[in-house]
Amino acid sequence: MNPPTPSAIRPNSNAARDIAAALHPYTDLVAHQQIGPVVITRGEGVRVWDDAGKSYIEAMAGLWCASLGFSNQRLVEAAVAQMRRLPFYHSFSAKSHEPLIELAEMLLARAPVPMSKVFFANSGSEANDSVVKMVWYFNNALGRPQKKKLIGRVKGYHGITTASASLTGIPTNHRSFDVPLAGFIHTLCPHHYRFGEAGESEEAFATRCAEELEKLILAEGPETVAAMWAEPIMGAGGVIVPPATYFEKIQPVLRKYDVLLVADEVICGFWRTGNYWGSQTYGIQPDILTCAKALSASYLPISAVLVNDRVFQGLAQESHRIGTFGHGFTYSGHPVPAAVAVETLKLYDELGIGEHVRRVGPYMQDGLRRRFADHELVGEVRGTGLIGAIELAEDKATHKPFDPARKIGPRLAKLSEANGVISRAMVDVLAFSPPLIITEAEIDEMLDNFGRALDQLAAELK
Ligand code: PLP
Repeated sequence: MNPPTPSAIRPNSNAARDIAAALHPYTDLVAHQQIGPVVITRGEGVRVWDDAGKSYIEAMAGLWCASLGFSNQRLVEAAVAQMRRLPFYHSFSAKSHEPLIELAEMLLARAPVPMSKVFFANSGSEANDSVVKMVWYFNNALGRPQKKKLIGRVKGYHGITTASASLTGIPTNHRSFDVPLAGFIHTLCPHHYRFGEAGESEEAFATRCAEELEKLILAEGPETVAAMWAEPIMGAGGVIVPPATYFEKIQPVLRKYDVLLVADEVICGFWRTGNYWGSQTYGIQPDILTCAKALSASYLPISAVLVNDRVFQGLAQESHRIGTFGHGFTYSGHPVPAAVAVETLKLYDELGIGEHVRRVGPYMQDGLRRRFADHELVGEVRGTGLIGAIELAEDKATHKPFDPARKIGPRLAKLSEANGVISRAMVDVLAFSPPLIITEAEIDEMLDNFGRALDQLAAELK
């Protein structure tokens, strides 16, 4: 179907051309034909501008990713310098280049637990998809071809390729796409506010999550379960902070049944939670770690998979038996994004981004709670470091959510945009994950403007 371009959208404008030509991810493709896009034309610091000249604070750093804001010239120069020196080379068949080597070394030096080797891909989805295949390959190497099932969590997000979407536990990523594939299973979402029972403490809920996980592994047969994926804080599922003692309790269950733990640090990596890795914030000891987004401050696409020595030895042995590790992308470790990522990691160290996040993170968390925890529309405020969210509720006392059909969250996101703040609605959760360089004054401006939008919504709902 092709509805007519609405009259509010000028012919030949960016919006009209977009409607005519582009198919947008995460968009109602029919509604888009009427409403059109917000066309962003430039960025500076934590702000972006649209093609009408309106400025916004990017409270999501784009998609939880533009960690150094939108105008870092050192990253631009690193890309240009690498383009001049060697604009492309690959890493198949034992070819290599210096940006790839340097980046792999830097990641291993910064890993939260001892890791052995780094594999590069282009996106978080590709990194997780690659790990799915590595885990299967690893268990074939160990002579246990039946140990192949993979556990994700309800509301977990690991991407949208066929396998990574199967790990993801969000209904809109499954519906009508014929995923999850067989062999991908999901365990309880560790969200105390939504799934904790009346009177159940966070610790008791964490115990229940670990018990549920063990029940699932036993029901499937431990000899068939290979790995579990976990984001330290679940991002796209709604900034879900694990209940106290959660990882402390689930990791022994995984170890007991020799189930590998994959930490998906695509959002939490690189200081987002106040430590270099979310794994450090929550005491996670992964066998495999995936990262992307802030790895290159998102100036160019690149992702990485870090594997520990046990996993590497399995992969190495199997590749030797077959004759090759038959996996990799044309752009695995592409020199230009790799050079930008090297510069990004240097900038995190030089700028003291960790100390900065440890100062402004609590400031943002305190601001969110102080301003919004008592608001009539807000059920829960949560987060740590520079990642946070408010969850709307129709009834504060019972936690009853709004009917999703009313699209209250997306309405608030639109009002927020009108007030100059780009947030993101995940159903009725509004997230904040600004560039890590945000200042206290910019946090105040972001939360003041968002607060105005929240009050406007409350007035509209009366
Ligand atoms: N894993 C997590 C935790 C993510 O948040 C995302 C994207 O938001 C992905 C994986 C997928 O990354 P990409 O969109 O680069 O494929």
